[in-house]
Order: sequence, then structure tokens, then C-alpha cells
Amino acid sequence: MSASPASQPWVNALSQLAGAVKILDYDDGLHEMLATPRREVNVAVPLRRDDDRIELFHGYRVQHNVSRGPGKGGLRFHQAVDVDEVRALAMLMTWKCAVVDLPYGGAKGGVGIDPSRYSLPELERVTRRYTTEIMPVIGPERDIMAPDMGTDEQTMAWVLDTYSVSHGYTIPAVVTGKPIPLGGSLGRTTATSRGVVHVTRAALVRAGDRLEGASVAIQGFGKVGAHAAQIFATEGARVVAVSDQFGGLHNPAGLDVDHLMRHVAQTGSVVGFPEADPIDNSTLLALEVDVLVPAAVDGVLDADTAHAVRARFVVEGANGPTTGEADVILAERGVVVVPDILANAGGVVVSYFEWAQANQAYRWTGDEIESRLADRMHSAFADVSETAARESLSLRDAALVIGVRRVAEAHQTRGLYP
Ligand code: NAD
Repeated sequence: MSASPASQPWVNALSQLAGAVKILDYDDGLHEMLATPRREVNVAVPLRRDDDRIELFHGYRVQHNVSRGPGKGGLRFHQAVDVDEVRALAMLMTWKCAVVDLPYGGAKGGVGIDPSRYSLPELERVTRRYTTEIMPVIGPERDIMAPDMGTDEQTMAWVLDTYSVSHGYTIPAVVTGKPIPLGGSLGRTTATSRGVVHVTRAALVRAGDRLEGASVAIQGFGKVGAHAAQIFATEGARVVAVSDQFGGLHNPAGLDVDHLMRHVAQTGSVVGFPEADPIDNSTLLALEVDVLVPAAVDGVLDADTAHAVRARFVVEGANGPTTGEADVILAERGVVVVPDILANAGGVVVSYFEWAQANQAYRWTGDEIESRLADRMHSAFADVSETAARESLSLRDAALVIGVRRVAEAHQTRGLYP
């Protein structure tokens, strides 16, 4: 664990783990083992700019736990990336992979760079140098990268190429979220959103309700939020509000999502869409709807905003949208929260399918991927829901308990070497 003052995401991650460890009644030694990343690599990433100046960035790869299999987790390019944030996200990946029962541990990588300020060739050089620096610790059986904030399938293609060229042959399973011609999986782009809709349906059914006709508000209209809106509408739910960083929209009768997608493609924002009333992001969070899906940034539901929530269900499309204080407030007010490590796990599930296809050198059909994703999400939801009922826990605590228990059992069954 870090000796310097820890940042908020890492404090939150440690506090969630401490809660699960308390419920599981683990001893201090096991707690410390679960709290401590197995391996952290800090690298300097020098870049020759297009104008020949040299700039230096800091890069990280953290493998939080590898007891159940290779590390798995995204690569983030963002100016605010630091080692604590990467640690927190790596720990989250450990529990997430365990909750949906993937044979993976948790990892995460990051480079402290604002990608919007650099040219494509510059980003390629940064990606290739970072990959080279962390080469000894990654690989299809060691640690598998995927896109995250500020990176995309092109970044993964550069990682794949750099790794493959240095090994002398093509190794597609070193990354997931790669372009389809390089072995990317069908269904990966929409997988997180599909998972969000699957668990929303399961949560409604558990409460004796149904998805058809349910009203949904979604904060964030990016990769997760926009696809979720489309899938919710296709499945018969009523998407009454959406937002992005510029503002939001409300139409109680339901938005025409396909029309909205075309508007966003033309203008770059949901703002200005004619068939709805403009609202701001805090109003969206307080709408009286069946389901609220925060799918933008972390910490939006905090001690202030949680009091205003009037949704019956909060389904966490984003990572960490609800603070610990907000969790308590929402529980007191009877709002059911489907936690991030379950709700947005569809992306890593289809990443796992992509890795499995690369290892088999055999492509699955879109239907196979869709039905296997649905099975995984519904079975993970059932595990979490049964544990919550049996042990009188919130869905978040139940998901954490399942994830942490699976990792601890793997660790203990393997035994300590030497
Ligand atoms: P994205 O960058 O594609 O979209 C983010 C959206 O949020 C954009 O519409 C942006 O305008 C909006 N936004 C940004 N700041 C906002 C603010 N302050 N208020 C309201 N809206 C704001 O990102 P994404 O891939 O959709 O990821 C969204 C969240 O989901 C993140 O927390 C991410 O970690 C999490 N997540 C993503 C995936 C995935 O497969 N993409 C998987 C698991 C978790």
C-alpha cells in the first residue's frame, strides 16, 4: 500500500474491501494480502514530439491480483492519471472479474497524458514506448490490456503490433477491444451497455416488475450511455431523459433514441435536440423514474445529490458513480443500487470471449456471443441477489463479498509459496 497520502479512488477501494473483509471475518494477514497489489510497474515514457521537442510522461501498470488467472484491465490515457487511481481501478477489476466468474485477476494501466493535445503519430509513439517499457510483465497468459478512457481499438492495435513484432510472431490475445479485422470480437462495442440492460431487467423482475414500459434516465451519452439508451428503447423501456457533459434532455413520453443518435452524430452533443425539454445534469439525477443509469463519471451521486434521487433503481453503468455516503443515503431511502462491478461487467465478459476466441483461433458468431453474455450476466445477478437475500446485504456488499471470497479462496487453495 502507498506510504504517501492516498487519493480518493484508492481510499474508496480500500474502504469497500475493508467492508467485505469485515463481513467475511477474514484475519489481518489475508486482508493485507487482498489490499496489496501483487506487482506495480512505474515507467518513464519519453516522446519525441512532431516538432522534435522531447516530453516525458509517467506510465503505470498495476496487477492487483493474479490468483485466479492473468491480470485483465484497461489502459487509460488521461492527464490526471496517477498510481493511486490505477491501483484503485486494478482492484475494482479483480472483484469485477471474480463476480462474473472469469478466469482472470485484476489489472490496470495508465499514462498521464491528455490525448486530445497530441497528434495521432505522437499517440502511436507514446503507446509503443509504453508497451515496450512494460513488455516483461504483460502477455496473453500474464496480463491482457483493453481500451479505457482516452484509448481505443487503434491503441490496442499498436500494442498488439509492438508486442508481436518484439516476439517475432502475431499474438492477438495480448489485448482485447482490438479492431475486428485483427481478431476483435463481434458484440464488444455494445457489450457493457447490453450487460447494463440485462441486470436492469433482472433487478426489475426481482422486484416483481418488468422492463417493458419502465422509465429510464441515463447520465452520459458516450460508449456506455448511448448504446444503453438504444438497447433500452429496443427492449420496450421508455428512455425519458439523457445527458452529456454539455447538458441534458427530458421528454416524459420517451425520446426517439435513433433520431437522437443522428442529432448527436451531427452536432457532437445531445443539447439542442428538438423533441425534448432541456434540463441540467443535477435535474436528471433527481427525476422521478423507475431506473437511473449514471454512465458518465465517478462520484456524481454524493451526500448532496443522493437525497434528491427519486428513482427506484440506480444501475451503475459508470465506475464508482456513487460515494460511500450516498450509498448509505440511497439504502435508507429504499433505492436499490446495482453496483458497478456487476452492472458494467458486460464489457470485460465479452473481452474474455475475445481472448478465448484468440486462444482458440476460432471466431464465434454474434448470436453465440450475445447468448453467452446474457447467461453470464443473469447468472452473476442471481448469485449476487441470492447472497444479498441470504446474508441480508445490499447488492453492492453482496457483489463485493462474492468477488473477494472467490479471490481469497483461490489464493488459499493454491497455498503460499514457498
Ligand atoms: P465516454 O467517454 O464514451 O462517454 C462519457 C459520456 O459522459 C459522454 O457523453 C460525456 O459527455 C459524458 N460526461 C462527461 N462528463 C460528464 C459530466 N460531468 N456530467 C454528465 N455527463 C458527462 O465513456 P464511456 O466508455 O461511456 O464510460 C462511461 C463510464 O462507464 C466510465 O465510468 C467508464 O469507466 C465506465 N465503463 C465503461 C466501459 C466501456 O466498455 N466503455 C466498461 C465499464 C465501465
